Amino acid sequence: MKESYDAIVIGTGQAGPPLAVRLASAGQRVAVVERNRFGGTCVNTGCIPTKSPVASAYAARMAQRASEFGVRLDGTVTVDMKRVMARKDEISSRSRTGVEAWLRGTKNCTVYQGHARFESPTEVSVADHVLTAQRIFIDVGGRARIPPLPGVADTPYLTNSTLLDLDTLPPQLVIVGGGYVGLEFCQIFRRFGSEVTVIERASRVVPAEDEDISSAVREILEREGIRFRLNATCISLSKGEIGIAARVECTEGEPEVTGSHVLLAMGRNPNTDDLGLEKAGVLRDSRGYITVDDELRTNVPGIWALGDCNGRGGFTHTSYNDFEIVAANLLGDGTRRVSGRISAYNLYVDPPLGRAGMTEAQARRSGRRVLMATRPMTRVGRAVEKGETQGFMKVLVDGDSKEMIGAAILGTGGDEVIHCILDLMYARAPYTVMQRAMHIHPTVSELIPTMLGDLKPL
Ligand SMILES: Cc1cc2nc3c(=O)[nH]c(=O)nc-3n(C[C@H](O)[C@H](O)[C@H](O)COP(=O)(O)OP(=O)(O)OC[C@H]3O[C@@H](n4cnc5c(N)ncnc54)[C@H](O)[C@@H]3O)c2cc1C
Repeated sequence: MKESYDAIVIGTGQAGPPLAVRLASAGQRVAVVERNRFGGTCVNTGCIPTKSPVASAYAARMAQRASEFGVRLDGTVTVDMKRVMARKDEISSRSRTGVEAWLRGTKNCTVYQGHARFESPTEVSVADHVLTAQRIFIDVGGRARIPPLPGVADTPYLTNSTLLDLDTLPPQLVIVGGGYVGLEFCQIFRRFGSEVTVIERASRVVPAEDEDISSAVREILEREGIRFRLNATCISLSKGEIGIAARVECTEGEPEVTGSHVLLAMGRNPNTDDLGLEKAGVLRDSRGYITVDDELRTNVPGIWALGDCNGRGGFTHTSYNDFEIVAANLLGDGTRRVSGRISAYNLYVDPPLGRAGMTEAQARRSGRRVLMATRPMTRVGRAVEKGETQGFMKVLVDGDSKEMIGAAILGTGGDEVIHCILDLMYARAPYTVMQRAMHIHPTVSELIPTMLGDLKPL
């Protein structure tokens, strides 16, 4: 029997639930479908369950460094993995049950549990239900990409999901992938006590960042004993003597890396291959991302795609921003577009990297007249007081408009400080506004106006 709604929302990640509630609150009858755990990647296998162990790893690190601060701890510092993981599970679970209760408790909102598949542009099947609606919103997210590396099928490997299920420490962890996910995990597990080697195909870690940022991040991690095997162009896996072996056949260095466990952190794939999109006529690009316009409409009228599955973001905040764009355009003033947002994200190694707008390399390629200033964290009082002086800050300004066009803050507090720059970029105000602002002492942010006084042409 067909069950008719005004709207169907597929997936309860970061865009689906707020959109479902917003539509239902506007009086529309909404069906929400989830095939797995409520809250999606961020809540269950992404942001929350990685940032809680990041906090545990920071506590372990500070306990090890306690004597530097004049604090005596008797005995050796050890990490209780079961407690670390239980803490992470408690935090995730609170969020997950919160999302589920929110949806189930919303008037006009009906929750279906099961795998949703399109049957036509206006019909979605879930188990033995067929739901129909004139508006369908796809928020199906993504999953870890497992490339067809030689030997991968015969080697037990971990992903971001399964690594987070371990409650014992992998003695030797090999991480394939020196991107954002791989680097966060490498420092977490090193600080817990694992020996960690990161294998990366490119010649540097986080290769999308500027070279000086990549180098500084690698050096910070190397100082903690993490090993890197870069330029690993031909990676293959096999079972090794103690667990796994990864052949790297690089141009330089040892040809093989062995360990007890291997984590594959080699990117993400959108969950769009088993959604019946062909029955609805919805188009995907060559990498499987659903093709959308600036307002997140697919090529089929009445169907939208939000979050990681549209390839326009890849973060929790971009997925949530997709919700805000679609909701504003359907129920609000209709003025919001994806092109109106500024790229911004953090890398949660310690110290964190906060990023907004262009990299220096992008600014150079843009053909603009660009001004740049940098400042090492050793010249930031707050960092010195905290004993956290690794990293540096960099800002980029358009020489003609005087607007800030990019920044990287690699250093203590960088994940928060970046927002004062981001907000000025949204305001499209000249950098001189911040240069004249009185910031609070002692903070990392207080040095941004000072740094702006050092701007020089690129
Ligand atoms: C290890 C890791 C760490 C991360 N850390 C951060 C971070 O610190 N900050 C940040 O901003 N981002 C982070 N991210 C990225 C962030 O988690 C994602 O960008 C975000 O969760 C995407 O949300 P979404 O709404 O697009 O989809 P998802 O959260 O992936 O949700 C999609 C939902 O759809 C459901 N679904 C899929 N197919 C179907 C179907 N056919 N029928 C029914 N339901 C279906 C899934 O079960 C899932 O619940 C991290 C990701 C990883 C992997």
